Amino acid sequence: MREPAPAAEPAWAPPDEAVREKALELHRRLCQTYECPIPYFHSLDPVSELISSLLSHRTRNADSGRAFKALRARFPDWDAMIEAETGEVEELIQGVRWPELKAPRLQEVLRALRDRQGKLDLDFLAGMEVEPARRWLEALPGVGPKTSAAVLSFSVLRMPALPVDSHHHRVAQRLALIGPKVDVGPSHAILRAQLPADWSAQALYDNHEILMLHGQKICHYRRPACDRCPLTDLCPSAFKV
Ligand code: SF4
Repeated sequence: MREPAPAAEPAWAPPDEAVREKALELHRRLCQTYECPIPYFHSLDPVSELISSLLSHRTRNADSGRAFKALRARFPDWDAMIEAETGEVEELIQGVRWPELKAPRLQEVLRALRDRQGKLDLDFLAGMEVEPARRWLEALPGVGPKTSAAVLSFSVLRMPALPVDSHHHRVAQRLALIGPKVDVGPSHAILRAQLPADWSAQALYDNHEILMLHGQKICHYRRPACDRCPLTDLCPSAFKV
């Protein structure tokens, strides 16, 4: 379940103008289709978002949501979860994928955070720029680009970071925004660089959500519904998958 470690140097070239224009046009069309702005789906504090995000790795939202609620109901605060028996944490999160790995990882990441900060608190990230905040988070055990972006974007911090999930990644690959061999981890920096540097947190959140929604509703893993897609003229994979 460990996310790939971020590369020390970006293994990509800055996007050219044609790619930037294409990314903007895709955003414009999908925003029309899925009606931006997209409402945020929850408002967790950043430590809780970190836990929620780690639970959600390769797991359906409904299952990770149930596991998160079970942890919340059992422990009065996240400090109490660090001290709990790992087997009990594992039992509470049975519905997620790899509970036997995620339970010790959750305790490990919270312990590391408390050791670094003296308390379980990530509110200070609000005073940082996005990239240093992401690097700070990615120095925690098991936290990669997807989790760091989720903590900054989805939590009440509402910072302008771009998360990329498996749907978002698949659609971006079919649209040739990223190459066929680019994995989810490295795709974060490439896709973010294609969008305007000054975009707001809401705009970047919308971009992630509309590409994810498109992957869920039209550009399915198997047999994408290209006949219903508004992007066929921009997509080299149209009617070929
Ligand atoms: S044209 Fe087909 S393959 Fe391309 S983004 Fe649309 S649904 Fe996906």
